[in-house]
Amino acid sequence: MFEKKFKSLDKSYTAKIFLKKPDKYREIEKISSNLDNIITMGSCYSYTPASFKENKVSINLKKFNRIIEFDKENKLITVEAGIKLSELLNFTLKHGLWLPQTPGYPSITIGGALATNSHGKSCGYHGTIRNQIKKILIFHKNHGWVKLSEDENKKIFDLTIGGLGLTGTIVNVQLKLKKFSGNNFITKVEKTTSSKDTIKKINFSDNKEIYYYSWNRTDGFDNFGKGFVFQNEINLGKNIIETKKISLYKQNIYKTFGLNFWNSFTIKLGQSFYYNFFKYLKKKKFEDNFQNVIFPFVGKEFYFKLFGNKGFLESQIIVPSKKIDVFIDEIENIYKKYSPDITLYSIKNFKGKCSDLRFEDDGMCFTFDFIKNTKNIDFMEKLDKICEKYELIPSIIKDSRLGLNTIKKCYKDYYNFKDRLNDFDNKRIYRSALSDRLNI
Ligand SMILES: Cc1cc2nc3c(=O)[nH]c(=O)nc-3n(C[C@H](O)[C@H](O)[C@H](O)COP(=O)(O)OP(=O)(O)OC[C@H]3O[C@@H](n4cnc5c(N)ncnc54)[C@H](O)[C@@H]3O)c2cc1C
Repeated sequence: MFEKKFKSLDKSYTAKIFLKKPDKYREIEKISSNLDNIITMGSCYSYTPASFKENKVSINLKKFNRIIEFDKENKLITVEAGIKLSELLNFTLKHGLWLPQTPGYPSITIGGALATNSHGKSCGYHGTIRNQIKKILIFHKNHGWVKLSEDENKKIFDLTIGGLGLTGTIVNVQLKLKKFSGNNFITKVEKTTSSKDTIKKINFSDNKEIYYYSWNRTDGFDNFGKGFVFQNEINLGKNIIETKKISLYKQNIYKTFGLNFWNSFTIKLGQSFYYNFFKYLKKKKFEDNFQNVIFPFVGKEFYFKLFGNKGFLESQIIVPSKKIDVFIDEIENIYKKYSPDITLYSIKNFKGKCSDLRFEDDGMCFTFDFIKNTKNIDFMEKLDKICEKYELIPSIIKDSRLGLNTIKKCYKDYYNFKDRLNDFDNKRIYRSALSDRLNI
């Protein structure tokens, strides 16, 4: 066991923790048996402090990264929870199979993705990772080894998917894979003149497997919402494995350039450059490689580094279809009033049903990144009020400052989740800085 200082990716929380890296199943049992407070850690790539807590032990499952069973015919794979998305996909893609609900960075682990019910570029078509989870094996200090599925311990199965690691250590996971027949992706780019125009261009009812998302400007009210809608469609050209391989190139996403580089001037400069590049220089339809589409942050880690040691804040909100117009009106109103410094604004469609603390619903998902300062925090507080008023779904895992009151008002199952978790584990052994903030 060793002591280490950890920061959440958004740099909102720092803690000295004790880290354990077991490599045998009985070591997980042994470590857990001596502790009253533990949490499991994947790659610690969460924006919020979800996998650690001051002066407590985090069990890092890095060494549990094996493929245990593969049934190609039935598209089933059982893996250890510490396996990284890149390791999983580099194996399955060779067999023409994949996990479409892949969050945007290859070093994220399956355990971390499952515990946060993550989604990928395809969330408007495939929904969240919950849809692919068939079986889970957890170790819980008081309950021992527990098998979870729709047919076995269903209540704990439901609590564990998107359960932020609070039901115990996820050790093995069985996933149902999807077919990936094709080469890489074809990307189409379409100009959009406002947020509402973006929504029109992200087609809800289209049943074709196309992944839609946007990039929108935020540099001044006149430009707010202008940008591009991107469409990714699997390129059914010849099937070349090499074009789908994910590089294992490693960047320290945590290391910053020290000072914050973002301000209203650099945002304008950066956005004007990006906008004009796509408007005048980039083709409107082009072949895009697998890694670029599925892991858009690879090679662009400097984006996080540019915020400096103070970090950034992100707000991600799912807005049900019927409330989108009024939400955009409200956002434009508060934008006019506060002129926040937003470095990233993006919209994508989403498919799902929100229950427990899981971030999913039918509608549109709005993402905003902010420089961390008082003006922007004031703006985000107004956003919270909008979420409460219209009962929207703000992401818990992305926003370190999201208050408990907002969470209680927006997540109808908050108390139900808490009660069921307490029934399963009345000593509440598995805790993190995030679960403390949620008062769970
Ligand atoms: C660049 C980048 C892009 C991202 N893009 C997306 C995206 O597109 N969609 C999306 O949904 N998310 C996205 N995320 C967020 C990311 O998917 C989640 O934060 C994910 O949980 C990180 O996984 P991790 O392995 O780093 O886990 P950690 O951050 O270490 O842990 C996250 C949570 O999972 C729990 N956990 C981890 N492993 C286990 C285990 N074995 N057993 C029990 N609990 C466990 C932890 O206790 C904690 O609550 C992105 C993050 C980054 C940095």
